[in-house]
Amino acid sequence: MRELQTPSIELNNGNSIPQLGLGTWKLNGDDAKRVVGAAAELGYRHFDTAAVYQNEREVGLALRESGLLRDELFVTTKLANTDQEDAHKAFDASLDRLGLDYVDLYLIHWPVPTRGHAVNAWRSLVEIVGSGRCRAIGVSNFEVEHLEELLHHTGVVPAVNQIELHPLHQRKQLRAFCAERDIAVEAWGPLGQGKTDLLGRPEILAAASAHGKTPAQVVLRWHVQQGVIVIPKSSHRNRLEENAEIFDFALTEDEMAKIDALDEQRRLGGDPYTFVG
Ligand code: NAD
Repeated sequence: MRELQTPSIELNNGNSIPQLGLGTWKLNGDDAKRVVGAAAELGYRHFDTAAVYQNEREVGLALRESGLLRDELFVTTKLANTDQEDAHKAFDASLDRLGLDYVDLYLIHWPVPTRGHAVNAWRSLVEIVGSGRCRAIGVSNFEVEHLEELLHHTGVVPAVNQIELHPLHQRKQLRAFCAERDIAVEAWGPLGQGKTDLLGRPEILAAASAHGKTPAQVVLRWHVQQGVIVIPKSSHRNRLEENAEIFDFALTEDEMAKIDALDEQRRLGGDPYTFVG
């Protein structure tokens, strides 16, 4: 069992979250179990799943079989859009599938403003965190307007906002809003989901060659150097290893600025205003 030197970010409720985690979207069945087990062996301690990924059982099983103690792990799961009206029941079902006594972070997966249930769902999450069965609560894919609505109605600030974030979609205004309110930002799709030419851009390749690192490591480093939490997904052991080796070098100011300049406000996933899931 390896130990990784992963820094932690302190959340606004005093808990901490490892800055690197494993994303598990599209990992299913035996594959999910195998990859989560391999990542745990390689030193990952933070795992990101969701009810809609349909892999909570396998993620939980792999973690229980990893030999790691519960308090060494950080497990996030998310409330499905279709369950916003009954978050308590959905949370209990997730906990049951994971086979855990608590999760470290529970997120509202999308705001779904067209249905208008997010504020009530957030009130339920506040009750759940109060019950001790999750250690922190947050949201995902919330824009400034959606965050303001939660704050206005409940006054309870999410610990985390997990959003699509990568050099081609940098969300500067939303990140500034989160920073002002001490909401930690977690990047989903941190590598551009392997769907773009991001890892072949000259600015990324130049930094990779200057540091003897790979393009993926440069992009992940760009995130963590700004205090962002990353949860890259891979099903390959060598890439799991590669994606974790990002804390032993630093990009220069000039390299960071060149990557900052790649922003195209190019969204790859759903639009938080219309996505219903
Ligand atoms: P990602 O940016 O992590 O991209 C994953 C893809 O990048 C892989 O399938 C592979 O093609 C490629 N890749 C991975 N490591 C690589 C490497 N070292 N070199 C080259 N290519 C590499 O995208 P993602 O999986 O969509 O996002 C990460 C995680 O975020 C998900 O697994 C999931 O847990 C979470 N997520 C959350 C939401 C949300 O709505 N909250 C949406 C999407 C994803």
